Amino acid sequence: IATLELRDVRKLYGATAAVDGVNLTLKRGEFLTFLGPSGSGKTTTLAMVAGLQTPTSGRIILDGQPLDPLPPYRRNIGMVFQHYALFPHMTVAKNIAFPLEMRKIDGEERKRRVAEALRLVGLPDFGDRFPNQLSGGQQQRVALARAMVFQPPLLLMDEPLGALDKKLREQMQLEILRLHRDLGMSILYVTHDQEEALVMSDRIAVFNDGRIQQIGSAEELYERP
Ligand code: ADP
Ligand code: ADP
Repeated sequence: IATLELRDVRKLYGATAAVDGVNLTLKRGEFLTFLGPSGSGKTTTLAMVAGLQTPTSGRIILDGQPLDPLPPYRRNIGMVFQHYALFPHMTVAKNIAFPLEMRKIDGEERKRRVAEALRLVGLPDFGDRFPNQLSGGQQQRVALARAMVFQPPLLLMDEPLGALDKKLREQMQLEILRLHRDLGMSILYVTHDQEEALVMSDRIAVFNDGRIQQIGSAEELYERP
C-alpha cells in the first residue's frame, strides 16, 4: 500500500499552465479525491501520476521511488477512466487477464487471480462474455476488476462513474468503498460531483486554475465554524 508524493508538479501546454505547482502527499491506504470545475487540472495531474503525461517540472514519488523514468506499465498503478474502454474483441476474463499477461503472471496463478477479481466485483460467471454483452455498470465493474487484478498499491480513478445513471452510480460508490476497505489500497479519485466527493473520501483536494486551493477532510473543508 503506497504513499505518493507530488512536489511542485507543473504541466505547461504552450504558455498555458494546465497544472501550476501541485504539492501533495497521499498517505498509506488513503482515499483522496480531486474535486473542482472542468479545466482545473485534475485529469492532467492524474495522467502525470499514471505516466500518460510528462510533467514540465516537479517530482512524483511513489514509495520513495521517483516515477519519471518508468513507463506506465512499470509503475504498478491501477487505472480506471470514464472512457477507458475494455478491449471489445476480448472476453471479460481476457480483458482482466491482460495486466497479468503484461507482468508475465500465467498458468494457475493467472486463472486464480482473474476468478478472484471477477468475484470481487460481483461478476463471477461473466468471464466468457464479451464487453458488448454487458450493461454499462457491468462494464465499469470489469474495468475496476482489470485495474485491481495485479493488486496495485495505488489505484487511480478518473470520473469512473460519470457515464452511469444516478442509481447505479450510488451502488458503485458503495462497491468501490467496500473494495477500498477490504483491499486497503491507496486511491486517487477524480470527480466534479461534490456529493460524490463527500461520500467517498478521507480527504478532498479542491482544484482551481491548476492548483490545489484547499485540502482536508469533509469536516475540515465544509463544517468549519
Ligand atoms: P480537469 O480534469 O480538471 O477538467 P484538465 O486537466 O483536463 O482539467 O485540463 C486542465 C487544462 O489543461 C484545461 O485548460 C485544458 O484545456 C488544458 N489541457 C488539457 N490537456 C491538454 C492538451 N493535451 N493540450 C492543450 N491543453 C490541454
Ligand atoms: P488464453 O487461452 O489465450 O489465455 P482465455 O480467454 O482462455 O485466453 O483466458 C485468458 C485468461 O483468463 C487465462 O488466464 C484464463 O485462465 C483466464 N480465464 C478464462 N476464462 C475464465 C473464466 N471464465 N473465469 C476465470 N478465469 C478465466
